[in-house]
Amino acid sequence: MRKTEEMHPLLAPDNRRDIVTVTPWLAPIVWETTFDSNLMDHIYKPQNITISATVFAIGKYIRFLQDFLHTAEQHFFVGYNVNYYVFTDKPEEVPNVNLAPNRKLNVVSTPSSNRWQEISARRMELIQTLIEEKLRNHADYIFCLDVDSKFHGHWGAETLGQLVAVIHPGYYAGPRSGFTYERRSKSRAYIGEGKGDFYYCGGAYGGSLKEVHALVSTCRVNFEADAAEGIEALWQEESHLNQYMWINKPTKVLSPEYLWQDFAPRRPEIKIIRFSGVVKNYAEIRPN
Ligand code: UDP
Ligand code: MN
Repeated sequence: MRKTEEMHPLLAPDNRRDIVTVTPWLAPIVWETTFDSNLMDHIYKPQNITISATVFAIGKYIRFLQDFLHTAEQHFFVGYNVNYYVFTDKPEEVPNVNLAPNRKLNVVSTPSSNRWQEISARRMELIQTLIEEKLRNHADYIFCLDVDSKFHGHWGAETLGQLVAVIHPGYYAGPRSGFTYERRSKSRAYIGEGKGDFYYCGGAYGGSLKEVHALVSTCRVNFEADAAEGIEALWQEESHLNQYMWINKPTKVLSPEYLWQDFAPRRPEIKIIRFSGVVKNYAEIRPN
């Protein structure tokens, strides 16, 4: 057999035959070994882009913020301009985490709520307002992340795209029929049997300001229209996000490496966990 360096790069053996690395609509699916991090930096660093990250820490969830920020400093877009936007009802409890130069933390005072479903639902409305009032001309890309999570590995420029979604770790190996989409046709988050592409996480998504604005404003309208008819989708904004991503295909899909959950069985396809949910006691931590 010829040495790899003698082969045309197009014909070099694919080192990941165990997973799909491109969607049927020709968007890349990002897995370990499918990208060259130095090359990505070579493309994006000279553009001097700014990445905004939104994170909500309402009520008891403030306890997750320290680890979230501390680990983001180690792994999330290291060397880039990053603006964190922390939405919290406890601004005085925001921890003092050392940030690298070119990284800033902005606190957005946010009212608390008695229902966790409402906190989740209101995130999209508040992200929409943030983009409209503060971010236009101040950020190129935005990622919206769950605070009850930590970074363990590299999350960088390979994740940039116009509309970016993460495949849920609980639903990447099983059949489509097991996806927990909203199945009641009266909801605007409805996805019929046999339909849908992947099951995406509500806990991490992003893209350009324009595309994320379109996503959050559409989901918000649909969520509120459902609410006016007394309907709440099965997984609240995650259900609406899945419906949106089915109609408006993401331009880049991130593998479950980008938001793992420890309840999901770890299969050999998962070579690295970059970001994962923190195990929490729901009964203790949620308002009700
Ligand atoms: N959240 C919050 N306070 C709450 C409930 C939720 O700040 O009382 C925010 C927080 O950012 C959290 C996100 O909403 O990461 C989603 O809620 P949760 O993580 O409980 O949902 P899960 O990931 O367990 O489905
Ligand atoms: Mn979460």
